Amino acid sequence: MAADIVLLGPPGSGKGTQAARLTATYGIPQIATGDMLRAAVEAGTSLGRQVKAYLDRGELVPDRLVVDIIRHRLAEPDTHRGFILDGFPRTVPQAEALDTLLAELQRPLDAVLYLQVDRQSLLDRLSHRAEIDQRSDDRPEIIAHRIDVFLDQTAPLIDYYRRQGKLKLIDGERPPEQVAAAIDQVIRSLG
Ligand code: ADP
Repeated sequence: MAADIVLLGPPGSGKGTQAARLTATYGIPQIATGDMLRAAVEAGTSLGRQVKAYLDRGELVPDRLVVDIIRHRLAEPDTHRGFILDGFPRTVPQAEALDTLLAELQRPLDAVLYLQVDRQSLLDRLSHRAEIDQRSDDRPEIIAHRIDVFLDQTAPLIDYYRRQGKLKLIDGERPPEQVAAAIDQVIRSLG
């Protein structure tokens, strides 16, 4: 089973949870730019120092930095059977850069799964998560800002991928097991 997949969805839509489960089920790596950026901040690398302020404010880090991360990550051998991109692309220029990169590698995306969740559910879920984790961007005003950033900069990707015929809509309001079942059905249909 090989699949090159993008999981698209607003903050709090359950992308990370579903990506982790797909990795466990299909044995293809989850590539989560948010996790990689937070790890760089933790490790105090040069990249970490460049991106910390963006993360804390709930802003997107510059496209060239994340595109570089992805270029290097997709060159790793564990991606040869597929990958699940979680949190990338997040802007139209990132999506264009990804298309260019994948064309060079001669492996176009198989599908883009969009997890649909309405704004109020996102706010509820993220404020709940803020009570249990220590993420510096899970403060209420930053949470609301991340959702606005999504609507402004990332939502245009829904049309971008619809035009490519790659978009699969998944109702993300349902419990995680049901979302997982819907995703599995889409993946099986890819053949
Ligand atoms: P969430 O989806 O809950 O916002 P992520 O872990 O995916 O969480 O992202 C956290 C932060 O990391 C974003 O607010 C942004 O600052 C940064 N980030 C992650 N991925 C990207 C990306 N593809 N482009 C720009 N910034 C990114």
